Amino acid sequence: MAFNTPLWTWLLSLAALGGLVGWLGGSELAWIAVAVCSVIWGAWLRWQLGRSLAQARAAQWANGRSLGLSGELFERFHKALRHESARAESAHAQLDDLRAALQASPNGVLLLDARGQIEWFNQTAAGLFGLERERDEGQWIGNLVREPAWAQLWQQRTPAAQQGPQALQAQLHGRAHSPGHPVLLKAQLHAYGDGRWLLLATDVTAQQQAEAMRRDFVANVSHEIRTPLTVLAGFVETLQTLSLSETEKNHYLDLMAQQAQRMQTLVHDLLTLSRLEGSPAPALDQWVDFKSLFRQVQTDAQALSALLGHAAQPVHHLAFSCDTGDVELAGSATELFSALSNLVSNALRYTAAGGHVHVQAQRKASGVLEFAVIDTGVGIAPEHISRLTERFYRVDRSRSRETGGTGLGLAIVKHVAQRHAARLDISSVLGQGSRFELVFAAQRVRDAQSLASIAPQTIP
Ligand code: ADP
Repeated sequence: MAFNTPLWTWLLSLAALGGLVGWLGGSELAWIAVAVCSVIWGAWLRWQLGRSLAQARAAQWANGRSLGLSGELFERFHKALRHESARAESAHAQLDDLRAALQASPNGVLLLDARGQIEWFNQTAAGLFGLERERDEGQWIGNLVREPAWAQLWQQRTPAAQQGPQALQAQLHGRAHSPGHPVLLKAQLHAYGDGRWLLLATDVTAQQQAEAMRRDFVANVSHEIRTPLTVLAGFVETLQTLSLSETEKNHYLDLMAQQAQRMQTLVHDLLTLSRLEGSPAPALDQWVDFKSLFRQVQTDAQALSALLGHAAQPVHHLAFSCDTGDVELAGSATELFSALSNLVSNALRYTAAGGHVHVQAQRKASGVLEFAVIDTGVGIAPEHISRLTERFYRVDRSRSRETGGTGLGLAIVKHVAQRHAARLDISSVLGQGSRFELVFAAQRVRDAQSLASIAPQTIP
């Protein structure tokens, strides 16, 4: 905008000239002229400012038309203000985006000032630490997280830690933590900005539990394999060092065969479990003839009962009833056979000779298929029931081993049930007997189709 205010220039020049003359000549008139010109100039400036302000209020800035010095000043101010407010708006929008991204983070995010006062936190952090926005923003974090581990972590905020790229770390407990329901958090403190701190909290409960399970599993497998191996090595040494009769030798060889068999069963069960855990669930269009599955389970049960009693005939009172009609089950024949025969084998192994074992299958009016194994064996105390399907969990370790158990049978049953959308129900009374039942959903059961359409599946 051009600077074209002649009156303005004239008045100012006049005042300056008057002032100069007055100063040089000592004339009072000149001083009066300066004063008058200054007053007029002041009034004129006031009028100009008033006019510009009125226009600014009405937002009627002349396009390309000069408004004088003050008008231009106002316009420039106005432009600068508009620019600043646009910048502020865009910064706000960016901040909102950033917060939305942090809100979406699966990790807890807390922004702390240099003294540890909470400036902001996301929803995940609110859940993990039990925070409420109105109540806790501005609070000192140490008032809300009262664990010694946190206090230690906070103490480590040395200037060196502030510089370094490495975060400070600690393990904390979530607000919902209790001994029966652990909530473990990995907390990381990162320095940022002007002495501020970013606290990242990740829920590592599942990860740590999986790690503990893996450690237990390796320890259990090693233990299970070491025992028969030690026994085998002992017998080998005996055979090598002692001169034994033929009968004694045969006795030791029998014992060695038993230990080798035990290891074989263990390895077989471990492989079954790892296959079940590592492979996709069986396809829904694979159908298994249930009656032949049942018959196979029945034949094996009779053989096992005789074997356990070292007899030619079964030593238990066995009853089998399959009231399902000709039906097919969706799933894998091998897996289903493994689950059903594990339940039957357990019933026989935990029921003394002379006890009763009843294996029954029914198709209910609702369409579900129930396969139940009922025994009059040792039974199980209630506190063990929820843990029976854990790998290597045994109520009676020695009985399990004596009868060739691996501690993996019910873990296999549970996996097969999950993969076939079936439910495993267990009820038992200590000293009286148990009932293990697999319930297959109606969608997985159908009337037997013509033989040609049944995909042939072999049972091991
Ligand atoms: P195991 O190879 O030791 O039998 P399982 O996983 O099959 O392992 O079973 C876990 C534990 O559950 C067994 O050690 C046993 O204590 C208990 N159990 C399983 N079935 C029965 C049953 N029918 N009667 C009594 N106890 C049983």
